[in-house]
Amino acid sequence: MDLVKVMETFPDQESCIVYLERLRWQDSPECPHCSSTRIGRREEYDTGRIGRWNCHDCNSTFKVTSGTIFHGTKIPLQKWFLAIALMANAKKSLSSHQLARDLGLPQKAVWRMMMCIRAEMGKDNVILEGIIEADETYIGGKGRKNYDKEEGEYRKAGRGTPKDTVLGAIARGGKVVAELVPDAKSLTITKFIKKFVDTDNAELYTDQYRAYNDVGEIMKNHEKLNRSEQWELDGIHTNTMEGFWSFVKRAWYGSHHHYSTGYTPLYLAEACYKYNYRDTNIFSKFLEESVAV
Ligand SMILES: [Zn+2]
Repeated sequence: MDLVKVMETFPDQESCIVYLERLRWQDSPECPHCSSTRIGRREEYDTGRIGRWNCHDCNSTFKVTSGTIFHGTKIPLQKWFLAIALMANAKKSLSSHQLARDLGLPQKAVWRMMMCIRAEMGKDNVILEGIIEADETYIGGKGRKNYDKEEGEYRKAGRGTPKDTVLGAIARGGKVVAELVPDAKSLTITKFIKKFVDTDNAELYTDQYRAYNDVGEIMKNHEKLNRSEQWELDGIHTNTMEGFWSFVKRAWYGSHHHYSTGYTPLYLAEACYKYNYRDTNIFSKFLEESVAV
């Protein structure tokens, strides 16, 4: 959704609450503590504290935001909605500094907000099937270390911080998964494939990196390509996965390079979510999922 539309549709806190209430409860709101429907709105519109409900069964109070990423936030929901729309629309990604300027909020608050949004995106469950390309990449880190592909780890020599190892798999014309892993050894790769690929209904393409050899034990259909000899052989290539890696790296080096690599899983979550729902209204989808607690 574009920004003008967000502003028009959600001019104030109340319109955001009404929208979230409809997404969460449709027409029958219920207490999140005891599931009772014997509840009533608290009349507090005069104090500006809106959206709170009383439960007549367990005597607790709650809001539509209870238990969601908006729980207890001091930031107006309209600004959350704008942040979600801006993040969804950003081709690369947004820095928290940029978003803070756009929203007129302190950078630290916006950074936390963006991390909450990314964590929510990371809850998405994806299982791949069909033609799958798998590949590994290394991102982040300030220094350089030589990566030893045979050993699947960094050589001890060299200075600086090692980069993060990330495994990825992508279905042609479908979705992508990417995960921060301790190494790119065969056991890690096999675990990753088992977790994200419907191995009975998929054909896997990788390069000839030998850590992929053991994948053959869990997948009947595994084709390896010798990249140095032939870039593409009868459609067996990992170009789609490499395209995704360059998307991740553009976001990383364009917006997030100055942050610690400890947050890599959250940046990956954002990149995957945006890729996977590129043909969807991400704004509406995200809000719907955010209140489905
Ligand atoms: Zn209750």
